[in-house]
Amino acid sequence: MTDNLTDLTIHVAHELLKAKKISSVELTKQYLARIKVVDAQVRAIVNVTEDFALQQAKKADEIIAAGKSVPLTGVPFLLKDNMSTKGIKTTCSSKMLENFIPPYDATVVEKLNSVGAVMVGKANMDEYAMGSSTENSAFFTTHNPWDLSRVPGGSSGGSAAGVAAGEAVFALGSDTGGSIRQPAGFCNVTGFKPTYGRVSRYGLVAFASSLDQIGPLTKDALDAALVMNVISGHDTADSTSATEPVPDYTKGLAKDLKGMKIGIPKEYFVEGMQPEVDAAIKAAIKQLEELGAKVDWGVSLPQTPHALAVYYIIAPSEASANLARYDGSKYGFSYLNTDNMWEGMEKTKQLGFGPEVKRRIMLGNYALSSGYYDAYYLKAQKVRTLIRREFDAAFEKYDALVTPTSPTVPFKIGERADNPVQMYLSDVCTLPINIAGIPGISIPAGFAQGLPIGMQIIGKPFAEDTLLKISYAYQQVTDWHKRRPAV
Ligand code: GLN
Repeated sequence: MTDNLTDLTIHVAHELLKAKKISSVELTKQYLARIKVVDAQVRAIVNVTEDFALQQAKKADEIIAAGKSVPLTGVPFLLKDNMSTKGIKTTCSSKMLENFIPPYDATVVEKLNSVGAVMVGKANMDEYAMGSSTENSAFFTTHNPWDLSRVPGGSSGGSAAGVAAGEAVFALGSDTGGSIRQPAGFCNVTGFKPTYGRVSRYGLVAFASSLDQIGPLTKDALDAALVMNVISGHDTADSTSATEPVPDYTKGLAKDLKGMKIGIPKEYFVEGMQPEVDAAIKAAIKQLEELGAKVDWGVSLPQTPHALAVYYIIAPSEASANLARYDGSKYGFSYLNTDNMWEGMEKTKQLGFGPEVKRRIMLGNYALSSGYYDAYYLKAQKVRTLIRREFDAAFEKYDALVTPTSPTVPFKIGERADNPVQMYLSDVCTLPINIAGIPGISIPAGFAQGLPIGMQIIGKPFAEDTLLKISYAYQQVTDWHKRRPAV
């Protein structure tokens, strides 16, 4: 039953730990050993936190012995390296923060610590979460465990690849325009971006504050519900976190979808989409119909094509403001050891940030500058409202919308690296969801030439339970999510 201990879900790991078939220390050692073997190829992790993990595991075993364990207690996980960990480097995969050791934990980290979850490492990412392939990491590129010559997606590529390769049971990622869902789709795991404000952002290194949201990457929908139960909720340290009560997300999971109304917005089946992706998603939707959902195949959300432009004005604008703090005078990389302070600050940014981050700062400063503000930033905010209203109207008729997560399967490393616009297009299906602040999940829904295909399910604000219910029902009748790469 327990031959493959590095292929566990949270719910199975919990049963084994609770029944004392294995201790958290033993389990953690198994994962650390697995990391040593596979991470030489996959490169999902920037910092393996071995000593910390073993300490945490010991504490978890005490919680279990005291009969106080909950499903995440003693379970190994990876944390995207843009979430603060007290006393442990938090690099954002940037030279700017390469040696930054935060004096505090992010709220999600505090919450995971409080139930005795075991962090085995900090996961690689695109620098400051800007990217769709993890190629923008200042340190190294993560490889897709399904085909090492391909990208794992991004920006939470390390989190997704790590879970897919069995380096941890689950991971946390962050999603500003698709960074949890797109890599989840590329690596064949379940990736959940909750409603904006559902999970506290305190201690998450800011990229675009009105879009950023933390969420889980797991092996199935039940595990996503279990992580959501721990990390969700209001936080006085994040004034944008929601006061909406947190339900038990495992409660609504059911085997059928009777009475559920699902819409299929045609604009998400974009031109240039890979035919195998189109076919797989349509087959998956038919399966939702068989589970009892009523599907409307003819939904139209005509604002959708504007989402990409809106995102690439708003996200860089917010980023340019958020990243102004990295001037070498407070923390992180500094080049202030010259006579001229201004020159020192300039040099700090020049040497500390990679090319994509600089591109975003320039785009943002341009869109916010006087003379262009009205034409770009203000216009984008207005279209943002239209996009949100269009979703509001759709959710008066449908419980959920279903789309592909990405128009293609994972692409080759290097294929889009020199073409920012082509890279930006990887997220056409996921960006609108952040713009509207609504929840979205990506679940495994098929393969083409041995490469994973993700299906995205979108819901109205705080309908996390609906998305988990659909995902769970689908995973009861399919086994895509159980497939593992041969790495
Ligand atoms: N790929 C998008 C970008 O580069 C989204 C990134 C994200 O969600 N963090 O901005």
